[in-house]
Amino acid sequence: MSLVPMKQILDEARKKGYGVGAYNVNNMEQVQAIMAAAQATKSPVIIQASMGALKYSNFTYLKHLMLAAAEENPDIPIAMHLDHGNSLESAKKAISLGFTSVMIDGSLKEDGKTPSDYEYNVEVTKSVVAYAHQFGVTVEGEIGRLGGIEDGVGSGSAHVTDPDEAKRFVDDTKLDALAIAIGTSHGAYKFKGDKNLAFDVLEKVRKLIDIPIVLHGASSVPQELIDRVNKYGGKMPGATGVPMAHLQKAIKMGVSKINVDTDGRLAVTAEIRRVFAESPDKFDPRDYLGPARDTLAKLIESKMKDFGTAGHAGDYKPMTLDDMKKFYASKK
Ligand SMILES: [Zn+2]
Repeated sequence: MSLVPMKQILDEARKKGYGVGAYNVNNMEQVQAIMAAAQATKSPVIIQASMGALKYSNFTYLKHLMLAAAEENPDIPIAMHLDHGNSLESAKKAISLGFTSVMIDGSLKEDGKTPSDYEYNVEVTKSVVAYAHQFGVTVEGEIGRLGGIEDGVGSGSAHVTDPDEAKRFVDDTKLDALAIAIGTSHGAYKFKGDKNLAFDVLEKVRKLIDIPIVLHGASSVPQELIDRVNKYGGKMPGATGVPMAHLQKAIKMGVSKINVDTDGRLAVTAEIRRVFAESPDKFDPRDYLGPARDTLAKLIESKMKDFGTAGHAGDYKPMTLDDMKKFYASKK
């Protein structure tokens, strides 16, 4: 079994200065594509599901797909991560399913829409840390607010992270990884004008905190995929993402986890549209889901190379949740 706490994957990445992509899944083909890419490049990997994705799969289906990924790939360290948990209850649910890591996004209230305040964020994050660490499960939190909306999560307004507040948040909550807002946003329309990230904020946060930093909304929205979507009947004019060079700069400056959801959706959609347009006679789902899976695997493979994850799967001995449980207990 190669399921490990996300903390180990991120701590190791931080030590060596590479980034690890966290890829969102809803179905079997996505899980398989991610694992094919991880296997081809020998990369540790974070597979993540939002509450929306878990509900879509009736919880159990996605759980077993992730467990299948671990069973099929014993040589790849895999973290099973809850993306944008909205309450202690959501964290408890994920942990009961066997997730090795949970995010609690206390930058928003439980409805996933209303911006919260600092006190609320600390309180809900602390409650998840206290619960999750008993099981050796990693906790990611968020300070500042991302723009955009994804899976119904998002306030529609952005708020760049205040570095001093980030430091206070880490001290107050003792969480394992921190998502910060430096100008990225969820979805396929990330920038209206200049594609600038607040690297000065990232630099200040990096100096002040000593845990892995996470970047959400970090899809690159490759023009080639948008062109393919639009060529075969889609309608996504003006979609934009974060250029890979900016992500690589962020990784050099200390970002360890890079969340990628939109790009995976685009790869699947572009390929399915192509098959439908070019082969209107096809009606076996394998004829379009299979090519979509291959396209997604190629996309993720290139990300694993670009983020520097490739080749690091065998660097360390995987820790169990039990090992991590002891680690947390020793820190008390
Ligand atoms: Zn996010």
